[in-house]
Amino acid sequence: MKSKTSMLEVLRRVIQEVNGARNLDAALATMVRRIRKAMQTDVCSFYLYDKELESLVLMETIGLRTQAVGQVVLPLGEGLVGLVAKRSEPLNLEDAQSHPHFRYFEATGEERYSSFLGVPIIHQRLMLGVLVVQQAEQRQYDDEDEAFLVTMAAQLAGVLAHALATGNLNRRALPSGQTMFKGVAASPGMAMGEAVVITPPSDLNSVPDLVPSDEDFEVARLKEAIGKTRAEIRAAAERLVNRISTQELALFDVYQQMLGEAALSEEVEKRIREGQWAPGALADVVRRHVQYLERVDDNYLRERAADIRDLGRRVLAHLQEDSPSTPETYPDNAILVGDEISVAMLGEVPRDKLKGLVSVRGSSTSHVAIVARAMGIPTVLGMVDLPLPRLSGAPVVLDGHRGRLFVRPAPELKARYESLIAEEEALSELLSHEQDLPSETPDGHDMPLMVNTGLAVDAAALLKSRISGVGLYRTEVPFMITERFPGEKEQTRLYRDQLESFSPLPVVMRTLDIGGDKDLPYFPIEEANPFLGWRGMRVTLDHPEVLMVQLRAMLKASKELDNLYVLFPMITNVEEVDEALRLLDRAILELGEEGIDVERPKVGVMIEVPATIYQMDALAKRVDFFSVGSNDLTQYLLAVDRNNPRVSSLYDALHPALLGALQELSQDALRLKKPISLCGELAGDPAGALLLMAMGFTSLSMNAPSLPKVRAAIRRVSLKDAQQLLSEVMLLDTPAQVHMHLDKRMDDWQLSHLLPPRD
Ligand code: PEP
Ligand code: MG
Repeated sequence: MKSKTSMLEVLRRVIQEVNGARNLDAALATMVRRIRKAMQTDVCSFYLYDKELESLVLMETIGLRTQAVGQVVLPLGEGLVGLVAKRSEPLNLEDAQSHPHFRYFEATGEERYSSFLGVPIIHQRLMLGVLVVQQAEQRQYDDEDEAFLVTMAAQLAGVLAHALATGNLNRRALPSGQTMFKGVAASPGMAMGEAVVITPPSDLNSVPDLVPSDEDFEVARLKEAIGKTRAEIRAAAERLVNRISTQELALFDVYQQMLGEAALSEEVEKRIREGQWAPGALADVVRRHVQYLERVDDNYLRERAADIRDLGRRVLAHLQEDSPSTPETYPDNAILVGDEISVAMLGEVPRDKLKGLVSVRGSSTSHVAIVARAMGIPTVLGMVDLPLPRLSGAPVVLDGHRGRLFVRPAPELKARYESLIAEEEALSELLSHEQDLPSETPDGHDMPLMVNTGLAVDAAALLKSRISGVGLYRTEVPFMITERFPGEKEQTRLYRDQLESFSPLPVVMRTLDIGGDKDLPYFPIEEANPFLGWRGMRVTLDHPEVLMVQLRAMLKASKELDNLYVLFPMITNVEEVDEALRLLDRAILELGEEGIDVERPKVGVMIEVPATIYQMDALAKRVDFFSVGSNDLTQYLLAVDRNNPRVSSLYDALHPALLGALQELSQDALRLKKPISLCGELAGDPAGALLLMAMGFTSLSMNAPSLPKVRAAIRRVSLKDAQQLLSEVMLLDTPAQVHMHLDKRMDDWQLSHLLPPRD
């Protein structure tokens, strides 16, 4: 193995190439070559595990005969490669031929190779293939060699899983047809429709692949776009002629040359003739050049990579001018798919055509998820393996309960989902009849239900008769949609609207809870650990000017309505409450001095940082009510980032530790004679809601679409039975046991139809 620095350098480059590669075959070919070179060995090969054949197929090699690709097939457990795969462990042999598992394949010509090092490629505990290096003379690959190959395999794993899932391996012997992607369930419900890939304009990385129906037309529009870009650059150069140096101006000549007939455009045209539409061909060519230039150790050439990318974007922008997506062009059952979907993009699709949302980034608490839930649109976010460019126009089935997307679903799957969707519609129709009935148990216990709001789409008029108030108004949501901090007047209007719509019911307004995953575009917070950093009250106490404007606006808005409750988020220390209250009192005083007399609203704190669990007495001396944020309490108590899809299976609000904490909190609140509400997602889960009721929570606040099922559960289960259930559940040791037990009881009570569907 070469020196450590060169190993790291090779790793870095290969990762860059593999991740940037548009085509898996090309990535594999480069990878085996690079590994062979870096390890100074004779052979590097990649074997793919074919699930259907339960065998490993030689897919790529440098060193063995290329004719052997696709021909060498080793059943799991057979041969050295099969053994590596079966044991999921590296195998390092100086004399491979003497190993009892050694098998000879004539096609490879590998009898010449003595030494063997094979490592498994594993993604999310699944074995996908094996990476092998071999050497003619006897050689003991050392620890560093092994570590290098294991690291390479780990890198390849993600790319491979992605390519497999998309059917993007254009070799035979691979499963094809229906593919499934997993993400984070962000808004419940199921939908079938057509994938509409939304790409930010002029983004070369998200241009879909399409086979052109008319190559000549594609070439013509490419030429036109290049012509427009050249004219644009010429005009820019003319505008700048007196303002920049001749040296800088010369750059424009370089641009012109790059765009010249013989360079970029010819290559792109060639790619179009190979069967790619103009935007895709442009993206391919630009990417190839950029990748090449970024790899060379020359600053000047590396700068040129940025130039080519910039030119590519400009040409792409012109190409995209002729194919804008307008609401009329959306299919009737659009499932929006994007790298990141913003609330603004959501607004572009007519509501009746929008059936689902999917994105690579985001989490169940990103603001798109909050909007989607409020609108009742099935959503799956954090689908990290999604091959965006290849999804455009594909038929899909979206499962917002389980966090799944099926692309090109098989007829049986479609039929299953058709009936599941029909069942869900029938259930919601059934439940809608009892929406105006009280949320009261059969033994007469009243369980007040409230809603979480944040958007104008929340239909206050319809909800008002069905709820006890707004348990959580997330003020950061309107802040996210604006382009700057809204001023005092603007905020007053917003809050007045909310307070008036729900008056005389109480409205709990939470002060700005930004940070974590909730960034404001105009107030970016860059931190290594945003959830442990500058969040919620920590930000607003550092910016009293922002908090004061907000408090004044809330107070002014509540004048004569008196249904305002103020809630402070992310409280960790009691001093934070003291400081926030001081500012609140100052705002009341200032308004009084301005002739605006307002009542002091009731004040509460969010219990979402574990530290507050142990400070309930001190907090109770200062505030009027508690509101448990189970979303954050779960992430902080379990040390599981609520946005990280990789650990989402560990994120569980019904973890025994959480149940213990919640029960203690409700008992403390009872002892301290303070109301305690819960406004995280757990309140919207019918089984979770029953447990919280049994614990003694005084109200539950949830997204409006969760109300019907929670109400139905409460109306069917007595407080006594819920308490019995709670005492059974509190004895269990693991989250899985808790879920199983809840499922069983819900089944006994014939309420399993209220639970989110699970596999
Ligand atoms: C919570 O943390 O549970 C909560 C309700 O607040 P948010 O989801 O906005 O952080
Ligand atoms: Mg929170």
